[in-house]
Amino acid sequence: MTGLARTIHTRAGTGRRPGRLSELSLFLFLYIPSVLRYTFTVFEQTAVFWSPQRGYVMLKIKEYARAESLEQAYEWNQKKSSCVLGGMLWLKMSERNVGKAIDLSGLGLDQIREDGEEFRIGCMATLRQMERHEGLNRYTEGAVRAALADIVGVQFRNLATAGGSVFGRFGFSDVLTVLLAMDTSVILYHRGEIPLEEFMAGKRDRDILTEIRIRKQPGFHMVYQAHRNSRTDFPVLNAAAALDAAGGKLVFGARPLPAMALPLEEKLTKQLRGGNLTEKEAAEAAERTAEQVPVGGNMRGSAGYRRHLTRVLGRRSLLELQKLAAAEKGGTVS
Ligand SMILES: Cc1cc2nc3c(=O)[nH]c(=O)nc-3n(C[C@H](O)[C@H](O)[C@H](O)COP(=O)(O)OP(=O)(O)OC[C@H]3O[C@@H](n4cnc5c(N)ncnc54)[C@H](O)[C@@H]3O)c2cc1C
Repeated sequence: MTGLARTIHTRAGTGRRPGRLSELSLFLFLYIPSVLRYTFTVFEQTAVFWSPQRGYVMLKIKEYARAESLEQAYEWNQKKSSCVLGGMLWLKMSERNVGKAIDLSGLGLDQIREDGEEFRIGCMATLRQMERHEGLNRYTEGAVRAALADIVGVQFRNLATAGGSVFGRFGFSDVLTVLLAMDTSVILYHRGEIPLEEFMAGKRDRDILTEIRIRKQPGFHMVYQAHRNSRTDFPVLNAAAALDAAGGKLVFGARPLPAMALPLEEKLTKQLRGGNLTEKEAAEAAERTAEQVPVGGNMRGSAGYRRHLTRVLGRRSLLELQKLAAAEKGGTVS
């Protein structure tokens, strides 16, 4: 008989109720070993992401699961504690307890396909694949490369996925700005295909983004501009301008809200195509468009600074776009 048990026995033998301390000792004696055993078992199976800077655990994953089909991934993802993995670059910084981490990397969704009509970017294709894709850069006249080249570094872009970048709907995104300037839609496993703009405006749900679809437009031209306080930091503001046979648009992102697109006035698109938009007219048009764009302030820049940048990047984008449209016709812009 152990000392503790003997004490309890002795007290019981005297007809006295065990004291408060003894009740506590009994509890500790009986339950602590099993609690410890359980804790160690869970800990052994849990992937823990620790931040040396912050000094605490950020992301905890209890179970890793590689999906064998999209149907299975979708089913698993309906549980609130589940989470789809992209490149995990954003996820690993979040404070979150994940039950099941769902890996889509075995589903062949890591390719960028191109035909005469469109591009299809699989959700697991990386930002680096997009940046280096010849067809995408030919179609966008280097705008995709320009938009992605300053996102952290090459190793980072080799991991960050197209799906995670779009599904995250980040308010600092370069990816969303460049995609929104094109005729882009997302393909969701459950909801099907919806325009990117509608997807961005919608609420976050437990669907799975499988592909990004970009439809090629005749007479398409596009430029991308961003302002960063230092290279590879988040952008303070970014902008893209695009023109096709049907019209044009100006997109502003990192406002610091998700990107928003504004249609260009018809007269302006005619001037851009004709190559006769003056600097003064471009500045006025950028001013009119910029007024419609809500901007905010954060540690990277005040709302006033961002307002100023919308005018500057808007004007530059329009003038650059005009040069590209003129080059197609074999002309130049003075
Ligand atoms: C330090 C840092 C700096 C950055 N700088 C920039 C920048 O300057 N410009 C810029 O544009 N971006 C920037 N980003 C964002 C980055 O480019 C990626 O967009 C981001 O890391 C998400 O991509 P990921 O593949 O890592 O997704 P994850 O972190 O794995 O996932 C992000 C979210 O999307 C969900 N998700 C992932 N894939 C899918 C899917 N197929 N279907 C449904 N849900 C999915 C995840 O569950 C998670 O909620 C930065 C990120 C970091 C961490």
